[in-house]
Amino acid sequence: MTKDQKPYTLSCQACGGKLNPKPGQATVRCAHCGNTVAIPAEARGRKPFTPPEEPLEVRLGKLVGGRHDGAAVQLLRDELSLPPAAAGELVELVRLNECKDVARIIKGWMEGRAQRKAIL
Ligand SMILES: [Zn+2]
Repeated sequence: MTKDQKPYTLSCQACGGKLNPKPGQATVRCAHCGNTVAIPAEARGRKPFTPPEEPLEVRLGKLVGGRHDGAAVQLLRDELSLPPAAAGELVELVRLNECKDVARIIKGWMEGRAQRKAIL
């Protein structure tokens, strides 16, 4: 393998999501959070190695911590099929907990939501 063919790693700096640039593209927009990522000139036209996506809680914690609230809401809508108001509520909860224990917060919130739905 020559240096030119060495795969490069490409993932979104904001949320850790996968990026799929087309050959020759100079920038690629993250489908998860809308962040625009520059592609190094030497990497254009080559297929990137995209590392496995980080778990949802890690990406959500990064987005909320980085104040990308809109993207955080979008992530929850995409991944958990939450309506906008519910996604916003969960984002707010993660922020109140300073982005700690995000996995536990999501789990607890989803369970609470399921119970509320059962009552209604
Ligand atoms: Zn992203």
